[in-house]
Amino acid sequence: MKANKNYIEPKITLLGAGPGDPDLLTLKGYKALQNANVVLYDALVGDKILEFVNPSATKVYVGKRSGDHSYSQEVVNRLMIDYAINFGHVVRLKGGDSFVFGRGYEELEFATKHQIPVTVIPGISSSIGVPGLQHIPVTHRGVSESFWVVTGTTASGEVSGDIYSAAQSNATIVVLMGLKKLAEIVEIFKNAGKSTLPVAIVQSGSTEQEKLVLGNVDNIIQRSREEMVGAPALLVFGEVVSLHPSYKSVVENYVPIIRE
Ligand code: SAH
Repeated sequence: MKANKNYIEPKITLLGAGPGDPDLLTLKGYKALQNANVVLYDALVGDKILEFVNPSATKVYVGKRSGDHSYSQEVVNRLMIDYAINFGHVVRLKGGDSFVFGRGYEELEFATKHQIPVTVIPGISSSIGVPGLQHIPVTHRGVSESFWVVTGTTASGEVSGDIYSAAQSNATIVVLMGLKKLAEIVEIFKNAGKSTLPVAIVQSGSTEQEKLVLGNVDNIIQRSREEMVGAPALLVFGEVVSLHPSYKSVVENYVPIIRE
Protein backbone atom coordinates (compact mmCIF):
# COMPACT_ATOMS: atom_id res chain seq x y z
CA MET A 1 0.00 0.00 0.00
CA LYS A 2 1.30 3.41 -0.93
CA ALA A 3 1.59 5.86 1.93
CA ASN A 4 -0.99 8.58 1.87
CA LYS A 5 0.82 11.83 1.11
CA ASN A 6 -1.26 13.64 3.70
CA TYR A 7 -0.59 11.13 6.42
CA ILE A 8 1.12 12.77 9.34
CA GLU A 9 3.86 10.77 10.96
CA PRO A 10 4.49 12.16 14.44
CA LYS A 11 8.10 12.11 15.57
CA ILE A 12 10.29 14.09 17.89
CA THR A 13 13.95 14.97 17.70
CA LEU A 14 15.66 16.10 20.88
CA LEU A 15 18.40 18.32 19.54
CA GLY A 16 21.27 19.92 21.41
CA ALA A 17 22.21 23.24 19.80
CA GLY A 18 25.63 23.60 21.41
CA PRO A 19 26.80 26.64 23.38
CA GLY A 20 25.59 29.37 21.01
CA ASP A 21 27.86 29.72 17.97
CA PRO A 22 25.72 28.35 15.11
CA ASP A 23 28.78 26.71 13.56
CA LEU A 24 28.96 24.49 16.62
CA LEU A 25 25.69 22.78 15.74
CA THR A 26 26.25 19.26 14.44
CA LEU A 27 25.61 18.45 10.80
CA LYS A 28 22.96 15.98 11.91
CA GLY A 29 21.32 18.75 13.91
CA TYR A 30 21.34 21.03 10.89
CA LYS A 31 19.64 18.36 8.80
CA ALA A 32 16.97 17.88 11.48
CA LEU A 33 16.22 21.63 11.48
CA GLN A 34 15.90 21.56 7.70
CA ASN A 35 13.48 18.68 7.94
CA ALA A 36 11.37 19.99 10.85
CA ASN A 37 7.69 20.92 10.73
CA VAL A 38 7.81 22.59 14.15
CA VAL A 39 10.75 23.73 16.27
CA LEU A 40 10.27 24.29 20.00
CA TYR A 41 13.25 26.24 21.25
CA ASP A 42 14.70 27.50 24.51
CA ALA A 43 16.14 30.77 25.75
CA LEU A 44 19.76 29.66 25.45
CA VAL A 45 19.50 28.90 21.75
CA GLY A 46 21.09 31.66 19.69
CA ASP A 47 19.00 33.47 17.05
CA LYS A 48 21.50 32.54 14.38
CA ILE A 49 20.80 28.84 14.83
CA LEU A 50 17.13 29.54 14.19
CA GLU A 51 18.10 30.78 10.72
CA PHE A 52 18.86 27.15 9.86
CA VAL A 53 15.24 26.16 10.40
CA ASN A 54 13.27 25.22 7.31
CA PRO A 55 11.37 28.43 6.37
CA SER A 56 8.05 26.59 6.19
CA ALA A 57 8.39 25.27 9.76
CA THR A 58 6.71 26.90 12.75
CA LYS A 59 9.10 28.20 15.41
CA VAL A 60 7.77 28.30 18.95
CA TYR A 61 9.65 29.86 21.86
CA VAL A 62 9.12 27.86 25.04
CA GLY A 63 12.02 29.19 27.09
CA LYS A 64 12.21 29.85 30.75
CA ARG A 65 14.29 32.93 31.38
CA SER A 66 15.31 33.61 34.95
CA GLY A 67 12.24 34.73 36.87
CA ASP A 68 9.93 34.09 33.93
CA HIS A 69 8.44 30.65 34.22
CA SER A 70 5.67 31.13 31.73
CA TYR A 71 6.14 27.67 30.22
CA SER A 72 6.18 24.90 32.77
CA GLN A 73 7.77 21.60 31.84
CA GLU A 74 4.29 20.07 31.73
CA VAL A 75 3.17 22.62 29.15
CA VAL A 76 6.29 22.05 27.03
CA ASN A 77 5.74 18.28 27.15
CA ARG A 78 2.12 18.70 26.10
CA LEU A 79 2.94 21.12 23.27
CA MET A 80 5.58 18.79 21.94
CA ILE A 81 3.07 15.94 21.69
CA ASP A 82 0.25 18.06 20.28
CA TYR A 83 2.47 19.55 17.60
CA ALA A 84 3.85 16.14 16.66
CA ILE A 85 0.37 14.66 16.28
CA ASN A 86 -0.90 17.59 14.25
CA PHE A 87 2.14 18.56 12.21
CA GLY A 88 4.60 15.67 12.17
CA HIS A 89 8.26 16.27 12.90
CA VAL A 90 8.89 18.31 16.03
CA VAL A 91 12.45 19.34 16.83
CA ARG A 92 12.92 20.16 20.48
CA LEU A 93 15.94 22.45 20.39
CA LYS A 94 17.91 23.22 23.54
CA GLY A 95 21.14 24.94 24.47
CA GLY A 96 24.21 22.72 24.85
CA ASP A 97 23.26 19.07 25.19
CA SER A 98 19.69 18.04 26.05
CA PHE A 99 20.80 15.64 28.76
CA VAL A 100 23.10 17.98 30.68
CA PHE A 101 20.74 19.90 32.96
CA GLY A 102 18.40 20.15 30.00
CA ARG A 103 15.44 18.09 31.25
CA GLY A 104 15.74 16.12 28.03
CA TYR A 105 15.01 12.80 29.62
CA GLU A 106 11.68 14.05 30.98
CA GLU A 107 10.66 14.91 27.44
CA LEU A 108 11.93 11.61 26.11
CA GLU A 109 9.88 9.74 28.72
CA PHE A 110 6.75 11.78 28.05
CA ALA A 111 6.96 11.25 24.30
CA THR A 112 7.60 7.52 24.73
CA LYS A 113 4.55 7.27 26.99
CA HIS A 114 2.54 8.74 24.13
CA GLN A 115 4.05 6.26 21.64
CA ILE A 116 5.83 8.96 19.68
CA PRO A 117 9.28 7.91 18.44
CA VAL A 118 12.18 10.03 19.63
CA THR A 119 15.60 10.56 18.11
CA VAL A 120 18.35 12.12 20.20
CA ILE A 121 20.97 14.31 18.56
CA PRO A 122 23.65 15.27 21.09
CA GLY A 123 24.96 18.82 21.26
CA ILE A 124 28.24 20.24 22.48
CA SER A 125 27.62 20.89 26.14
CA SER A 126 28.76 24.27 27.42
CA SER A 127 30.32 22.39 30.34
CA ILE A 128 33.11 21.01 28.14
CA GLY A 129 32.96 23.17 25.01
CA VAL A 130 33.03 26.59 26.66
CA PRO A 131 36.15 25.98 28.79
CA GLY A 132 37.72 24.31 25.74
CA LEU A 133 37.14 27.37 23.57
CA GLN A 134 39.15 29.29 26.19
CA HIS A 135 41.98 26.74 25.94
CA ILE A 136 41.06 25.34 29.34
CA PRO A 137 40.92 21.55 29.11
CA VAL A 138 38.64 19.83 31.63
CA THR A 139 41.24 17.07 32.00
CA HIS A 140 44.97 17.19 31.41
CA ARG A 141 47.55 14.51 32.01
CA GLY A 142 49.27 15.09 35.33
CA VAL A 143 46.90 17.94 36.28
CA SER A 144 43.35 16.63 36.39
CA GLU A 145 42.15 13.06 36.12
CA SER A 146 38.43 13.77 36.08
CA PHE A 147 35.81 16.43 35.92
CA TRP A 148 32.48 17.00 37.57
CA VAL A 149 29.63 18.99 36.09
CA VAL A 150 27.51 20.24 38.94
CA THR A 151 24.53 22.53 39.15
CA GLY A 152 24.93 25.59 41.36
CA THR A 153 21.22 25.79 41.96
CA THR A 154 19.03 22.75 42.52
CA ALA A 155 15.26 22.57 41.93
CA SER A 156 14.71 23.73 45.50
CA GLY A 157 16.95 26.78 44.95
CA GLU A 158 19.77 25.51 47.18
CA VAL A 159 23.42 24.98 46.32
CA SER A 160 23.84 21.34 45.32
CA GLY A 161 25.18 19.11 48.08
CA ASP A 162 27.48 17.61 45.45
CA ILE A 163 29.54 20.82 45.46
CA TYR A 164 30.66 20.01 49.02
CA SER A 165 31.96 16.61 47.90
CA ALA A 166 33.39 18.06 44.68
CA ALA A 167 35.33 20.70 46.61
CA GLN A 168 37.07 17.90 48.55
CA SER A 169 38.27 16.20 45.36
CA ASN A 170 41.14 16.92 42.95
CA ALA A 171 38.75 16.95 40.02
CA THR A 172 37.99 19.87 37.76
CA ILE A 173 34.63 21.24 38.88
CA VAL A 174 32.43 22.89 36.27
CA VAL A 175 29.44 24.61 37.83
CA LEU A 176 26.44 25.46 35.67
CA MET A 177 23.72 27.83 36.89
CA GLY A 178 26.08 28.91 39.65
CA LEU A 179 26.78 32.60 39.10
CA LYS A 180 24.11 33.81 41.52
CA LYS A 181 25.47 31.43 44.13
CA LEU A 182 29.11 32.36 43.59
CA ALA A 183 29.61 33.68 47.15
CA GLU A 184 28.19 30.51 48.71
CA ILE A 185 30.16 28.24 46.38
CA VAL A 186 33.40 30.12 47.04
CA GLU A 187 32.81 29.70 50.78
CA ILE A 188 32.52 25.93 50.31
CA PHE A 189 35.88 25.82 48.49
CA LYS A 190 37.50 28.02 51.16
CA ASN A 191 36.23 25.70 53.88
CA ALA A 192 37.79 22.82 51.97
CA GLY A 193 41.17 24.61 52.18
CA LYS A 194 41.19 25.61 48.49
CA SER A 195 41.73 29.40 48.73
CA THR A 196 44.43 29.46 46.06
CA LEU A 197 42.68 27.10 43.65
CA PRO A 198 42.43 28.69 40.16
CA VAL A 199 38.94 29.68 39.01
CA ALA A 200 37.57 30.82 35.67
CA ILE A 201 34.17 32.32 34.90
CA VAL A 202 33.08 32.29 31.30
CA GLN A 203 30.06 34.26 30.21
CA SER A 204 28.25 33.62 26.91
CA GLY A 205 30.94 31.25 25.66
CA SER A 206 31.23 30.94 21.84
CA THR A 207 29.16 34.09 21.21
CA GLU A 208 30.08 37.72 20.50
CA GLN A 209 29.32 38.54 24.15
CA GLU A 210 31.90 36.05 25.41
CA LYS A 211 33.76 37.22 28.50
CA LEU A 212 36.41 35.48 30.58
CA VAL A 213 37.38 36.23 34.17
CA LEU A 214 40.36 34.49 35.73
CA GLY A 215 41.24 34.40 39.39
CA ASN A 216 41.44 32.11 42.37
CA VAL A 217 39.01 31.14 45.10
CA ASP A 218 40.16 34.07 47.22
CA ASN A 219 39.70 36.84 44.67
CA ILE A 220 37.17 35.57 42.13
CA ILE A 221 34.19 37.37 43.69
CA GLN A 222 35.97 40.71 43.51
CA ARG A 223 37.22 39.92 39.99
CA SER A 224 33.73 39.00 38.77
CA ARG A 225 32.35 42.28 40.13
CA GLU A 226 35.10 44.27 38.43
CA GLU A 227 34.40 42.56 35.13
CA MET A 228 30.62 42.73 35.60
CA VAL A 229 29.92 39.20 34.42
CA GLY A 230 26.33 38.23 33.76
CA ALA A 231 24.31 35.20 32.70
CA PRO A 232 24.66 32.76 31.11
CA ALA A 233 27.95 31.94 32.71
CA LEU A 234 29.72 28.89 34.03
CA LEU A 235 32.37 28.49 36.69
CA VAL A 236 35.45 26.30 36.44
CA PHE A 237 37.33 25.41 39.62
CA GLY A 238 40.57 23.50 39.20
CA GLU A 239 44.28 23.48 38.47
CA VAL A 240 43.48 23.19 34.75
CA VAL A 241 42.46 26.87 34.81
CA SER A 242 46.12 27.77 35.42
CA LEU A 243 46.87 26.36 31.95
CA HIS A 244 45.10 29.33 30.40
CA PRO A 245 47.76 31.41 28.61
CA SER A 246 46.97 34.58 30.60
CA TYR A 247 46.39 32.96 33.96
CA LYS A 248 49.82 33.61 35.39
CA SER A 249 50.04 37.27 34.45
CA VAL A 250 46.43 38.01 35.43
CA VAL A 251 46.65 36.40 38.84
CA GLU A 252 50.22 37.42 39.73
CA ASN A 253 49.73 41.04 38.73
CA TYR A 254 46.27 41.33 40.20
CA VAL A 255 45.62 44.46 42.21
CA PRO A 256 42.04 44.77 43.42
CA ILE A 257 40.21 47.92 42.43
CA ILE A 258 39.34 49.58 45.70
CA ARG A 259 36.18 51.64 45.49
CA GLU A 260 35.78 54.44 48.04
N1 SAH B 1 22.17 21.84 28.49
C1 SAH B 1 23.08 22.95 28.67
C2 SAH B 1 23.10 23.47 30.09
C3 SAH B 1 21.75 23.98 30.57
S1 SAH B 1 21.84 24.69 32.16
C4 SAH B 1 24.48 22.52 28.23
O1 SAH B 1 24.74 21.32 28.03
O2 SAH B 1 25.32 23.40 28.03
C5 SAH B 1 22.12 26.38 31.76
C6 SAH B 1 23.48 26.82 32.23
O3 SAH B 1 24.48 26.39 31.33
C7 SAH B 1 23.66 28.32 32.33
O4 SAH B 1 23.14 28.83 33.54
C8 SAH B 1 25.17 28.43 32.29
O5 SAH B 1 25.73 28.08 33.53
C9 SAH B 1 25.54 27.32 31.31
N2 SAH B 1 25.70 27.81 29.93
C10 SAH B 1 24.96 27.48 28.86
N3 SAH B 1 25.45 28.06 27.74
C11 SAH B 1 26.53 28.77 28.12
C12 SAH B 1 27.47 29.59 27.42
N4 SAH B 1 27.39 29.78 26.11
N5 SAH B 1 28.47 30.16 28.13
C13 SAH B 1 28.57 29.96 29.47
N6 SAH B 1 27.71 29.19 30.17
C14 SAH B 1 26.71 28.61 29.51
